[in-house]
Amino acid sequence: MRRRGASFPDDPREQLWGAIGAVFRSWNNPRAKEYRRLYRIPEEWGTAVNVQAMVFGNRGERSATGVAFTRDPATGEKKFYGEFLANAQGEDVVAGIRTPHPLAADGSGKSLEETMPAAYAELVRVRDLVEKSFRDMQDLEFTIEEGRVYLLQTRNGKRTGFAAVRVATDMVAEGLISEKEAVLRVEPEQLVQLLAPVFPAKEKEAAVQGGRLLARGLPAGPGAACGRIAFTADRAVEMARKGDPVVLVRVETSPEDIAGMHAAVGILTTRGGITSHASVVARGMGKTCVVGAGEITVDERRHELRARNLTAKEGDFLSVDGTAGDVLLGQLPTQPSEVLRVLVDGTLPPEKSPLFASFQRLLEWADGSRRLGVRANADTPTDARVARLFGAEGIGLCRTEHMFFGENRIVAVRQMIVADSEADRRKALAKLLPMQREDFIGIFREMGERPVTIRLLDPPLHEFLPHEDAAVKKTAEELGITAEKLRERVRSLAEANPMLGHRGCRLGITYPEIYETQVRAIFEAAAAVRREGLRPSPEVMIPLVGTKGEFDRLKIMVDETARLVAGETGDAVPYRVGTMIEIPRAALRAAEIAANCDFFSFGTNDLTQMTYGYSRDDAASFLPAYIELGILPDDPFGTIDQPGVGELVSIATERGRAAKPGLKVGVCGEHGGDPRSITFFHGAGLDYVSCSPFRVAVARLAAAHAALSKETAASSTA
Ligand code: PEP
Ligand code: MG
Repeated sequence: MRRRGASFPDDPREQLWGAIGAVFRSWNNPRAKEYRRLYRIPEEWGTAVNVQAMVFGNRGERSATGVAFTRDPATGEKKFYGEFLANAQGEDVVAGIRTPHPLAADGSGKSLEETMPAAYAELVRVRDLVEKSFRDMQDLEFTIEEGRVYLLQTRNGKRTGFAAVRVATDMVAEGLISEKEAVLRVEPEQLVQLLAPVFPAKEKEAAVQGGRLLARGLPAGPGAACGRIAFTADRAVEMARKGDPVVLVRVETSPEDIAGMHAAVGILTTRGGITSHASVVARGMGKTCVVGAGEITVDERRHELRARNLTAKEGDFLSVDGTAGDVLLGQLPTQPSEVLRVLVDGTLPPEKSPLFASFQRLLEWADGSRRLGVRANADTPTDARVARLFGAEGIGLCRTEHMFFGENRIVAVRQMIVADSEADRRKALAKLLPMQREDFIGIFREMGERPVTIRLLDPPLHEFLPHEDAAVKKTAEELGITAEKLRERVRSLAEANPMLGHRGCRLGITYPEIYETQVRAIFEAAAAVRREGLRPSPEVMIPLVGTKGEFDRLKIMVDETARLVAGETGDAVPYRVGTMIEIPRAALRAAEIAANCDFFSFGTNDLTQMTYGYSRDDAASFLPAYIELGILPDDPFGTIDQPGVGELVSIATERGRAAKPGLKVGVCGEHGGDPRSITFFHGAGLDYVSCSPFRVAVARLAAAHAALSKETAASSTA
């Protein structure tokens, strides 16, 4: 009070009003504001004040005060977890002036159980009472006044994802809550914590305190990764081959970087948003990734990066926290995720992991409650396997262009692109055909009879050609043409707006042999695995359709190719043909497009890009400001814009189904893995969502939440 230029008031009323005013004012302090922003608590809610009589924990050695959790908030283990101080008031525990002691006996002779056994026994009784009464893990504040226990406050305890899963499943086993309640107790996004490798909190904090925080960017791929800096994809591959962990640092990534991204343990870009290429690919691969770290300047010429007066060179260690979006200089240790060790690596037997058992149980309950199907976006047999292990019911998007960057394919792809005539193009495609067929065979084997949606080539061709001088020369040699000719081809393919240019089905229409080859590879692969006794369900998907004419023309090509292959193999493979809906016009004209179509899959990345007119790859320069200013509530590339893009989704679903009853409708843009968007897709009546393999568990739980909260809402209004 002196600090504020007033002396402490003697009048208890004045004291009380002072305290009440301070609580109300605290609603507007920066910490509270940040908290509301993070947890989406509306500004207009305001706060309340409870005035109650005080008890005293500082009346001597038979008095004490403390805080307790009815279970461990970090792990969820059912143990009484907390701290107390003898002869003290509540503030003393929180302020950390004296070191508190544990509640349960720990052999130190200082625990509450050892020093005040009767009070401890009473607290244990209270713990059971409040848990039974509130049917959730509680966070308690208590005071012991001359041996008597008073409860000051109890509320649902905040907990990690690990604890949320364990507490929910344990409480079902204890008969405290139902399975449906357990499903609703875990926020879908919390499951990400169970999958991501982590930096131990202590080490990270020490590094931040030590001035090693280089930048904060957008958390695009959760997890912790630590490796040596590489500034180009080629260097990343080279360094990884030598056995070094690598963090690939780029201004932004392009499909050319795929191999480098694959070789890297972590990816960092200084530009781009959460559906930029780097983010989408990193999440698909389950890689740790931070994007849009704009504070960092990458100096490719000097092979170094700079930020906050720190400099790092190629080969230096960088630690990337993709869960928080932080980038730190130097090496931090990481801990692998227990669930992944059991489920994917197989290095931990399931019976040794109660956490894994709880995770699986919770997801099985979620499956029992959801209506939406959950598929995965997967481009390789390895991705497909991971997707299946996480419970994906099919593949909702296989981006075939990612296969084109495989080690020995890119040369054939480039030959196809630089070809002068259709005959030369077909020659190059003939080399690609068996490779694509092998890719699809691998995926069909992994997925068995689950549907596999394969999208025909989508990106503009120039993305497959080199642009830097040295790379142009090297590629020209590989292709057996002059550098000048290659440069000429690169120039001729350059576009002012490639995202709106010669890509998607426009390629398939102008170079039909490209799509024909891909479709042939799909049907030959399906026939091959059918000979092994499997029953694959291929679904051919046409990208970037805007008109009925485009779709119908390509549908005829697919049917014709299927018929040809069936004639050759003597086996007619059942299949479906559908389209992506990612251009606003396609959404509006859904009825006529649906007429000949078996399914729609919303490409909400492009649909958002084209509805707003915001470039997916450049929006990072203004989107954060828009969100900060409240012009947009969220990044529309992360969470579906319900009133705008969402309306197009609803319109297309209704019109499509009206014209074609039973039309299957899904979504395969990044929104398919976002819980809030999933709630919307459930309400819009979609059949399934498709997301990266590492988000399948999140999507299963979110789909259950969507169904259960509708159920609850319906029963409370009935
Ligand atoms: C989309 O646009 O939402 C989509 C899934 O396709 P891509 O991200 O490959 O453009
Ligand atoms: Mg798209």
